[in-house]
Amino acid sequence: MEQTMMAVRLFEHGGPEVLKYIEAPIPDIGPDDVLLRVHATAVNSWDLRYRSGNLPQPLPGRPAWPLPFQLGRDAAGEIVATGENVTRSRVGDRVVQLPHPPCRNCALCVRGLENLCVDTAYPGHQVFGGYAQYVARRQDAVLPIPDGVDYETAAATMWT
Ligand SMILES: [Zn+2]
Repeated sequence: MEQTMMAVRLFEHGGPEVLKYIEAPIPDIGPDDVLLRVHATAVNSWDLRYRSGNLPQPLPGRPAWPLPFQLGRDAAGEIVATGENVTRSRVGDRVVQLPHPPCRNCALCVRGLENLCVDTAYPGHQVFGGYAQYVARRQDAVLPIPDGVDYETAAATMWT
């Protein structure tokens, strides 16, 4: 497998011209991660706000909005590699990344209220998003795409 990929990265805030198409290393995966070959992403309002720098102050205890960065709250694609502990997915599975993956550690996650997680790492905001040929995700941060749903629809459906 090749070692590099093409990605769209943001090095400064501004209009669409600040997005740079660059060569970058393919992300490494840990034992609980999957490597996704991205077939579709989306441009949602958060991506536009981040690109332009129209962002709120980070919440207390949360990191600042990083630069350089890789936008893309949405990504759908095919799993091409899995870590040694991955049991939920296999190479070849069609999946879409969760736009709000629960941390599994905060008080709300521990109580089973993962949809209210207060320590999520949003793709495209706290972790590199889907504007690349490959992204690495925790195995429980992707969902299978149902038969009959194409990648574009899956990517565009997860966040409005
Ligand atoms: Zn949580």
